[in-house]
Amino acid sequence: MTRRRIIHVILIIVISACFVAGAHLLFQNLSLAWNKSQIENLVRQSLMRTEKSVDLAIASLTRLGQKGLNNCSTATRANLKSQVMTASSIRDIHLRSGNNSCAAFASPVLVTRFAAHGKWIKTKLATLRLADAGPDYGSALAVWKKAPQYDLVAIVATQGMFFDMVPAPFQSRIEIAINLDNGPEIAAYRPQGTPSQNTNTSTRKARQIDFVATSLVYPLTARATIDRQALLGHHRKNNIIVDLIAALVGILVGFLASRDLFPPPGPGEEMDKAIANGEFMPFFQPIIDLKSGRIAGFEMLARRLRPDGEMISPDQFIPLAENYGRIDALLFDLLKSAGAQLGEELRKHDELKLTFNITPSQFLDPAFLPALVEVVNAVGLPPGSLVAEITERQQLGDLSLASETVDLFKNQGIMIALDDTGTGHNGLSSIQKLDVSIMKLDKIFIDGIVDNERSRQIVEMLAGLARQYTMTVVAEGIENQEQADAALAMGIKEGQGFYFSRPVPANDLLVLLEQQKDCCTTNHPPLPHDRPASGNWRIAS
Ligand code: C2E
Ligand code: CA
Ligand code: CA
Repeated sequence: MTRRRIIHVILIIVISACFVAGAHLLFQNLSLAWNKSQIENLVRQSLMRTEKSVDLAIASLTRLGQKGLNNCSTATRANLKSQVMTASSIRDIHLRSGNNSCAAFASPVLVTRFAAHGKWIKTKLATLRLADAGPDYGSALAVWKKAPQYDLVAIVATQGMFFDMVPAPFQSRIEIAINLDNGPEIAAYRPQGTPSQNTNTSTRKARQIDFVATSLVYPLTARATIDRQALLGHHRKNNIIVDLIAALVGILVGFLASRDLFPPPGPGEEMDKAIANGEFMPFFQPIIDLKSGRIAGFEMLARRLRPDGEMISPDQFIPLAENYGRIDALLFDLLKSAGAQLGEELRKHDELKLTFNITPSQFLDPAFLPALVEVVNAVGLPPGSLVAEITERQQLGDLSLASETVDLFKNQGIMIALDDTGTGHNGLSSIQKLDVSIMKLDKIFIDGIVDNERSRQIVEMLAGLARQYTMTVVAEGIENQEQADAALAMGIKEGQGFYFSRPVPANDLLVLLEQQKDCCTTNHPPLPHDRPASGNWRIAS
């Protein structure tokens, strides 16, 4: 995995982890808030239900009082019983009037003892007291209504009073207790097996959260106690789903962010990488002295050899290199290779010329020539053996500046060739104004040099012009012997094309140079058309 990939993956992991953590926390807090509000509501409801039981008991006792009960006759007890029967939450009613004590169900002894137990809590109403009814009645509340003639006490059952109110997810984790004036417990909800309030250990208490509500009417306090984990864990399943969704969103956002923060390398960076990897290499196409048949020089042509073995032609990367400011770096890289491969040959044979292509913008850039000179010196290429080709296909712009620049190149020993002559925008003015040493005639004219009268006329005219300006003419794109003969017949000295050789790597060029030592050493070397087609000059592509 590349470094870039690793950074992408780390970024995606970090962002999705942040999303999961954030969503987890948010969801947990929301569900906590929701659960808390549910329990607060439950506490309020429990308190209200207890208040309502007290209200009902008071109403029952008031109704009995209005009947003028002041003795413990059989009729009175029947009245008490009937009232107990009609109010489902009331288990018993006690009456005390003067020395008389009785109840709907309890014995007079119990009634007397119960009234005297001394745990009665005063309420806001002077005539009303409340007490815990146990241990005589278990889980029950006693409501005592005092009147001048009698005292009535209702025993209100509180067992299982809240069971239907507790939401299912909390049923096994919550405890609810109603206390009288923060004192005795008169009603409660507890899951089975839960120790009673009194046995709560301090560690258990530490893990618990209390929700409290106090009645404004009676001295009653409702308290719900729940385990903190139960409060959080209620939505655990949903939390996992939220985490999963957050992770997916995080991965997506991470992916987009990493793409924005670390955009894929542009063509410029891609080219820098390819240069650093040594993917660019120079090929060389021989330029032949048409009369002697000897190699007069060679044109350096860029190739890119991808690691997968694919060879890419310059048309595909030269425009990119120009547009993304890598054209100098590319040329200098090629010259470095050329210096290592052919520098010695060029130093030994100063009649050999190495030509290379430069764009008009490179040519006119004042910083280019000094940098070029530095490179050629560093890589051991003799400047006197070098020819820079400037294409006519692109606009050359300011011709007087171009003319001065030609002189600057010449001062450094580097000759200038006008490439693709006749195809460009400058007409004949560049030939006229620039003191270039070599004119290269484009293949489109050479294609018709044998049988197209117009092409022949143009070539003859350009070759004549070149002679006038003492320029060497090179015919490009020679593909057969007839074209070579025709060019020579028109006084063109040099030729280049597949007929002689395709562009080849330096090693193959060195072989060609070696072969020509045996080939063409006579004073009157054979002309190209005297040689067989399979002669030394042609190599396979
Ligand atoms: P160019 O400078 O006109 O180069 C000659 C092109 O014609 C080369 O194509 C060569 O392979 C091709 N050629 C030569 N003889 C024949 C022939 O007989 N028949 C045919 N059909 N084609 C022939 P290549 O190597 O693909 O280069 C294309 C162009 O890319 C070059 O045209 C040149 O403008 C540009 N180029 C190549 N290398 C460089 C470089 O290092 N720097 C710059 N700035 N441009 C380069
Ligand atoms: Ca060229
Ligand atoms: Ca050309």
